[in-house]
Amino acid sequence: MPAMLDDPAAPILFRQSGEVPYPHGHLPPGIAPRQVTLRDRVTIATIVPFSSPNQVPFTLMAYLCDQLGREIEKGDTYPMIDALSLEAFQHYWFGVFGAVMVLGDVHDIEEIHHMSQMGRDWEKECLGSFYIKPNYPGRSSHVCTGAFLTTDGARNRGVGRLMGETYLEWAPKLGYTYSVFNLVYETNVASCRIWDALGFKRIGRVKGCGNLKSYAGELVDALIYGRDLAQDDDFVSEERFDKIRYYLKNGKYPNGADRAEKSRLRSAATHYKLIPGQGELPEKLVLKGKEVISDPQRQYEIARGIHHKNHGGINKTTAAIAEQYHWVRIKETVSQVIRNCPECSEMNKGLNAMRVQPRPSLPNISINGMDMASPLAPTPGPPPQYQQHQNNRSPSPSDQLQMEAAQHSAQLMNSISHHHPQPQPFNSYEMPVDPALMDGVVNLRDLPPSPFLAASANLPIPQLPDLDPPDLPPPVERMEPEPQEERAPTAREELRRRLTRAGYANRK
Ligand SMILES: [Zn+2]
Repeated sequence: MPAMLDDPAAPILFRQSGEVPYPHGHLPPGIAPRQVTLRDRVTIATIVPFSSPNQVPFTLMAYLCDQLGREIEKGDTYPMIDALSLEAFQHYWFGVFGAVMVLGDVHDIEEIHHMSQMGRDWEKECLGSFYIKPNYPGRSSHVCTGAFLTTDGARNRGVGRLMGETYLEWAPKLGYTYSVFNLVYETNVASCRIWDALGFKRIGRVKGCGNLKSYAGELVDALIYGRDLAQDDDFVSEERFDKIRYYLKNGKYPNGADRAEKSRLRSAATHYKLIPGQGELPEKLVLKGKEVISDPQRQYEIARGIHHKNHGGINKTTAAIAEQYHWVRIKETVSQVIRNCPECSEMNKGLNAMRVQPRPSLPNISINGMDMASPLAPTPGPPPQYQQHQNNRSPSPSDQLQMEAAQHSAQLMNSISHHHPQPQPFNSYEMPVDPALMDGVVNLRDLPPSPFLAASANLPIPQLPDLDPPDLPPPVERMEPEPQEERAPTAREELRRRLTRAGYANRK
């Protein structure tokens, strides 16, 4: 399911435009291995992010290279004529940012390497891969593109859709504001259906662009897809909690809510409660007895506080948090905390020193945070935006964040530019790859509703049925009109807003 394309022979483009939390070697907050559930609603898989080709085990790299080669040779989806060499492939696919979906619940890159060492069969275990990189150089490098590959083992399992959703979740966190897919042949129906379903717009058509193997004697049109990476994700992101809070508090809809959103808010109002602030205690939004935390910084601090009590592993810490709090991806926050935990990092180093080759087996560790902290991932300490903190937030998080973002972006830039990546150890676990394992490339078909949301959180996500509760009248518009914005936001402000929303809320 390609959705591409940039020239594989071109030098790697890095993002330079916009204010840069990424790239340069380490992953920003909120990007960590993500557990998903496949279409059968039973099979668990994990989408694992890689910020450098060196992090990808050789056998996996070779398998993916071969898969792409076969797709290219089929001649119907990618424009290249010849398969890429392994060396060309690793820079093309993983040079900036790549992700791989594998079966099972995988916590970190270390586990992927262990799977490789154990000679695990990637044909069975690897479901797909995608990359995210700038689509243009320099001043337009905040516009990204991606390419997607679904492997043989992934037929009709919802893999393409899950990767597409993850792309939409991660690309803004990598600092991109818009996505362009340059070349999607119109005959690639499976791919088009995914992009249409995920809110991409067909922003262009290149007549007769494809001279494809299966369409001898005719030239096939190619579509250009575009998508604003900040659009209508409100009910996917934490921002929806702010809207629910606003609705409960003010009895009116947030500005710009359309009919569907109003309906969702009315439904949500039956599940959530707003407990007014008392004295020192701030107001709380509560879902089924658990306090909803929508501010990424508070999420991080709560997770850190609970983890530091006994340095539990990811599952233990996540479970402890979920007893009291609710947010959408607790596990991802915990993973970030553990990765940044100095104690767990020290223990992990010790463990790895003991593990120096050959490793008979990787224990299924659940003591301390060692099950998460990967020695392959840099451990740069807390993300810059968490290093300094002032706890005098106003009750309107998004406004506050926006203001602070505007005030302190320069500070963020400084702290980031001093965050040099640490060298990535080379990993070349040489394992033979049998090309016979890789027959028959398969396209995706069918796109039922995605299990993505339910799977990505560690706890049941409240369903917000799109139904009007019969007994709940729409709230009366009883407040005075909101003050109008004096002017449209500038591009820079808009970018900051999106970065803020993506978790780059930089604060004092
Ligand atoms: Zn720890």
